[in-house]
Amino acid sequence: MPTYPHHLSRPALTAASKTSDADSPRPPSATCAENSRQPRLRVDSWEIAHGRTVLGTCYPRQRRIRLSYLNVFLPPELRDYIIRHELAHLTEPGHTAAFHTLCDRYCSGRESQLTHSLRNYHWPVDR
Ligand SMILES: [Zn+2]
Repeated sequence: MPTYPHHLSRPALTAASKTSDADSPRPPSATCAENSRQPRLRVDSWEIAHGRTVLGTCYPRQRRIRLSYLNVFLPPELRDYIIRHELAHLTEPGHTAAFHTLCDRYCSGRESQLTHSLRNYHWPVDR
């Protein structure tokens, strides 16, 4: 079975339904594997990429997340959103309704708002 990378780029983002759930994830870190409450958030490998259009990519089977160096130009909450989006792909590989429900939960019910903010973000560098 082929492995499909799951990219986060501006065109790939779609609006998600709002759900209210106080069960937000811990801040992303490589130690999520030790969190028995959310063992599926284990990331085995983080990479920094030189991509200019793709801000994040998740390889669920390898439990690997690749982030564009351009994320350093994002405000912290948008940078966290990119990471939370990719973490949601560890459980839900596609941009399905289930994915957006999970991503929205990881974003404390703000996925749509953060998606909108990212789409309208004025980058200080050329992309
Ligand atoms: Zn995605």
